[in-house]
Amino acid sequence: MTETILRLLTRLSEAGDDAILPGELAAPFLGPGFDRLLAKRVLVEQAPLADWDVCDACECGLPCRPIRKAGDGYRAECPLDRRQDIDLTKDDLRLFRIGADALASVIGTAAGFRAAPKLAAEKVWRLGDTPSGRAVFLALEPAALTGDGIIASLRQAAQGSDITILAPQLPAEAARRHHDAGFHVIETLAVLMPASDVLGAAIDVAALSPVPMAPVLHVRRATAEVHWGGRSVILSRQVFPVFERLLEKALSRDQVASGSHVEGTTAREAKDLIRELRDAFKAAGFTDAESKALIVTVRNRGYRLGVPATGIVVDG
Ligand SMILES: [Zn+2]
Repeated sequence: MTETILRLLTRLSEAGDDAILPGELAAPFLGPGFDRLLAKRVLVEQAPLADWDVCDACECGLPCRPIRKAGDGYRAECPLDRRQDIDLTKDDLRLFRIGADALASVIGTAAGFRAAPKLAAEKVWRLGDTPSGRAVFLALEPAALTGDGIIASLRQAAQGSDITILAPQLPAEAARRHHDAGFHVIETLAVLMPASDVLGAAIDVAALSPVPMAPVLHVRRATAEVHWGGRSVILSRQVFPVFERLLEKALSRDQVASGSHVEGTTAREAKDLIRELRDAFKAAGFTDAESKALIVTVRNRGYRLGVPATGIVVDG
């Protein structure tokens, strides 16, 4: 995916109060758009760097290497090996702190919310409400959603509305607590897509609501046909075995199929097989969100079907 400054800042902001953008990473984004972020204080320029990391596995014993002026630019010199010297430009030495409040505001704008976000809990902003009435919250760092009492705080802030939370990837335990509370937690980076507007990125408001899950998944093995939510797809001989491995797991106690289980005896990587499977559903008219709601990625564990075993009917 094309990198955008907003996606980059969202990723870096997971570091919390220490979140910084080094000039090296900023370089491809310098220009009018970048200046707007400075003006909005999404980025706050700091004093330029005066030293640089020592080179990998260096035996110089220095905590860092000084940066010296060299011709038109600068150089971080290794005292032991000149081949390890790094030439730097003035822009490489710039350093920006990421302003969390201002970044939250820009992400809210990217999702189409007009009003400025309000702080709903420590480091959790309420961006606004979707047209269907869901309260949408944003957390930039995982720690904001792991504390005691966060579930109750968000419920109180939402005043009875359904809740969507845009967040970084959460630790499994925290993700489960939010899920059990009925909150719809979405990874911000999964929905913050490159766009051609001034921000360079946008969030489709449709992505903020959960996809309504059709209750029954009907599988006809003999014809490799899958019927779900009023649509049918006939899977090819290449992808049907992948679907069958997920199906087999869905009907067992642990519903998650590991990557190696998905791969089976093929020499292909699970992520490629899963992408082809989702593509087959999309080719049959399912939306991207529907294909991901049916073939669910379970972070660090594998994949599962989005329909519970009780909703699955398999014919021979
Ligand atoms: Zn060195």
